Amino acid sequence: MMRFAVIGDPIEHSLSPTIHKAFAEQCGIDLAYERMRVTPDSFDDEVNEFFSAGGRGLNVTQPLKTLAFNYAELVTDRAMNAGAANTLKFLDNDMVCADNTDGEGLVQDLHALGVSLNGKRVLLLGAGGAARGSVGTLLGEQPATLCIHNRTEATALQLIDDYARLGKVDWLGSATSEAEFDVIINATSASLHGARPDIDHALFTGAVCYDMMYGDNARPFTKWALANGAKAAHDGLGMLIEQAAASFMLWHNIQPDTARVRKQLSQAQSHSR
Ligand code: NDP
Repeated sequence: MMRFAVIGDPIEHSLSPTIHKAFAEQCGIDLAYERMRVTPDSFDDEVNEFFSAGGRGLNVTQPLKTLAFNYAELVTDRAMNAGAANTLKFLDNDMVCADNTDGEGLVQDLHALGVSLNGKRVLLLGAGGAARGSVGTLLGEQPATLCIHNRTEATALQLIDDYARLGKVDWLGSATSEAEFDVIINATSASLHGARPDIDHALFTGAVCYDMMYGDNARPFTKWALANGAKAAHDGLGMLIEQAAASFMLWHNIQPDTARVRKQLSQAQSHSR
């Protein structure tokens, strides 16, 4: 049986095993998929052992995405652009390939929600790993403008600089309400700390808002956006499923039916409320 896992710390609440097992069942693939708590200190030993024991692929979450990128002998363009990886694949030639499917997951989810970015004014909040993994794919959608705002300006300016060869990304300096956006994507983890991104809430007026977090963690942001005139507000459950589908594709060369799993997980989420 082929062996896969998701690694990170914390990892207990990861939905990746549920998603990958559902995809595998659909596609008639026999696999084992587990959660493994791995810290930065134990990363090399655990990953070496996993692949030596026949493991075929890993999903990688916080705080290991940069380590995963540096671990691999081969990297895809999108992982190279992000400087971080959320997927590792063990190849037949014993090499490991790193990919980053976060941006693909975000854009596929927006498409599934009927949100087009083409020609739109897009604001991305945050400049951490998830934002870094998304900018290349967002630029590929050819928005009219792509702006970034982040609590720490220097991190955002570095991100803008790193992507400069792929397209124009602007720094939204003072997060002023004078700017107008069609789509606002929250890629910060502010809600986890009981905080909000430091933007003027007037920016939400008429915009479609999206939080990469999902479930209860996304609610402070989506509620805030809707209370201030957002046209719609979505959480990141679909992104999680779509980025998993892109990893599944890399490992098995089969595109799973994400719509079925989206329905299954959103029903489970509303029942758990
Ligand atoms: P990182 O830790 O790499 O980055 C965190 C970002 O949030 C930074 O930009 C940081 O700003 C900002 N931030 C943190 N606290 C605050 C605060 N109190 N106020 C304002 N900004 C703050 O995390 P990731 O980029 O990996 O993840 C971001 C979020 O996206 C997470 O919540 C994660 O769960 C979610 N995610 C969802 C995915 C999905 O599939 N749905 C996939 C990947 C991530 P600063 O630079 O100033 O520190």
